[in-house]
Amino acid sequence: MLPEPNEYGQTMGARYEQQIEARARRFRRPSYLRVVVTRACPMHCPFCHHEGVGGNDGAVFGAGRSRPGFADWHCMLDVAARAGIRKFKFLGGEPLLEGALPALIAGVKSACLEADVSVITSGAVPVEMLEACFAAGLDRANLSIHGWTWEAFRANGGTVQYAQRRAVLERLLVLGRPLKLNFVYLGEASEQDLGVFLKDLSGERFTSRPVTVSILDDLGNAEMSPETIREVLRRLLGEPREKWVDDDPSSLPAERWRWRSGLTVEIKSSILGELAPWVVCETCPKRKQCREGTFALRLEPSGDVRFCMDRPDLRFSLLEACRADPGRAVDRWEAELCAMANTRPVVPPAMA
Ligand code: SF4
Repeated sequence: MLPEPNEYGQTMGARYEQQIEARARRFRRPSYLRVVVTRACPMHCPFCHHEGVGGNDGAVFGAGRSRPGFADWHCMLDVAARAGIRKFKFLGGEPLLEGALPALIAGVKSACLEADVSVITSGAVPVEMLEACFAAGLDRANLSIHGWTWEAFRANGGTVQYAQRRAVLERLLVLGRPLKLNFVYLGEASEQDLGVFLKDLSGERFTSRPVTVSILDDLGNAEMSPETIREVLRRLLGEPREKWVDDDPSSLPAERWRWRSGLTVEIKSSILGELAPWVVCETCPKRKQCREGTFALRLEPSGDVRFCMDRPDLRFSLLEACRADPGRAVDRWEAELCAMANTRPVVPPAMA
């Protein structure tokens, strides 16, 4: 049987099909956008990686350009949805300090109802803001555990926010929405705190609810790796009863371990540098340290879209594209993405 004609009206040869398959295997089109709405945060955690935004934003790349206002944010998120983003995560800083967040979430949901919208919060904010976000369409919350016990929270620079964090956690449990608790393991100093955290999370109050526990290694510590986390978990809880890997179409796969109590822990064990999603990855000097467990684009407070956390030079201004011509901004997004991933249409072989 003859193969179907391709989009060019030509019949594809076997070699052409193989080329397309190989490219599709190598390049997963990003459908995940991390939106850094603010860099302000009431916490000062030693392990914060600031999403790679650091002190560069504005000072170097955004110099001379006015900051995005609400209409700009609305336009940029709308363009992202039209460009195929289906997973939006708002973060910071502390995203719940941004008063316009509920309106931005409502805008994303009206642009794309099926979009998965989540937030990463320290919980060091009034619980009413979180409730306003859920009312606007927020699907899930990720709560960063900056120390589970009061002593560990204080050691990480927290003070009165501990009571707010508890109130936010209680409210999230009552709401019964999917919740992820992120704990960053910092080495021996945080092992006791992690032990108490895991013991508490093994109780029915948590295991009977849609709560995911994620234990992360400190990205800023080159000595640590996912294997460090596995060793610590074995030390604290023994061998799990089950282990499996879940694929995530928007991110790298997640390894999950489950114990008899029902506690399930997620470990981000894949390494972005191995996936090497961009053309420049092949010669990238940062590739060895490129470990973050996500394959996401980042929209910065400056209005720039960044292609990875470790290379501030890989970016384009979505804000400028939106201000120049909102109707064509999605074309600019597409062109930038294709250039980074070298996804120009594969030229079909000459037909006999
Ligand atoms: S730092 Fe960025 S460009 Fe470099 S290997 Fe990692 S994903 Fe690729």
